[in-house]
Amino acid sequence: MSEQKKDQTFLEVKDLKVEYFSDGQTVHAVNGVSLKIERGKTLGLVGETGAGKTTIAKSILRILPDVGAKVTEGKVYLDGQELFALPEQEMRKIRGNGISMIFQDPMTALNPVQTVGDQIAEVVRLHNAGSKESFEKRAREMLEMVGIPGDRYHEYPHQFSGGMKQRVVIAIALACNPGLLLADEPTTALDVTIQAQVLELIGELREKYNTAMLLITHDMGVVAQVCDEVAVIYAGRIIEYGSKEQIFDHPSHPYTIGLFGAIPSMKEDEEWLHPIEGLPPDPVNLPEGCAFHPRCPYATEECKKKPIEMYQTADGHQCRCCHMGAAKKGE
Ligand code: SF4
Repeated sequence: MSEQKKDQTFLEVKDLKVEYFSDGQTVHAVNGVSLKIERGKTLGLVGETGAGKTTIAKSILRILPDVGAKVTEGKVYLDGQELFALPEQEMRKIRGNGISMIFQDPMTALNPVQTVGDQIAEVVRLHNAGSKESFEKRAREMLEMVGIPGDRYHEYPHQFSGGMKQRVVIAIALACNPGLLLADEPTTALDVTIQAQVLELIGELREKYNTAMLLITHDMGVVAQVCDEVAVIYAGRIIEYGSKEQIFDHPSHPYTIGLFGAIPSMKEDEEWLHPIEGLPPDPVNLPEGCAFHPRCPYATEECKKKPIEMYQTADGHQCRCCHMGAAKKGE
């Protein structure tokens, strides 16, 4: 039995590196990411647009474009099975069955000329033996499970509101009881009340099926509501990793602390938010040393010289900063 199975880890990503190639330039999108998720647990992957979050999810599912993108290093294990070593035919069986993905925009995820029921039934048919009636029955069950009456089976996506469409997308993603759910900003396109309902639904279904989930988001409120652990990503690297409590109660990396500073407070009456100064680095031309140093108020010469290691701050809490603690003390 492999190491991944022994310690209850369901998904393990090891030192993943991904590059894109365009106009003779190399985009360093993911630069050595490692993470683990256990069954029934949710890891929140948090960071700004362009930090490499979606690229990680697509790499796990092996749906990066064939041309112009390449995994240059790293391994992914699902329940002990090394995904990059599998032939494409085997990988096709895992997509939808072992791993499902919920995309950000339900409009682009659904086929506008096929009824919602048929779209769910098709996924079930692809991965299971059975009759047309049994696939339809399962599709109706899934609709009911996400709070849509089964008799709306024959309706088309345009007949549903944005929140209902995202529920259909969730029904499709969970129709085959996948062990791992990759949810890429699943509520960003929804208004706040529908967002809360969809998050609650995802949480309930995850509990029911003991599904492991990688939740990609830039929204700390969503992380607080749904996640067990949090990985903060910057310029394609995880810069802080820990339990939700560790990250929320004791953020250590200046970037993570900056993210919290950019959230409006319900308790204090502040006139201005405190955004992180500057812009994320160009992934074609990443800075030497710590990629955050051009924006970091605590940067020293040491930060600019060599790549920064992950340091352990407490049990399971890690931070990629060589002056860890300086931001907390305000030095
Ligand atoms: Fe700032 Fe240096 Fe820490 Fe990077 S390593 S976050 S530049 S203090």
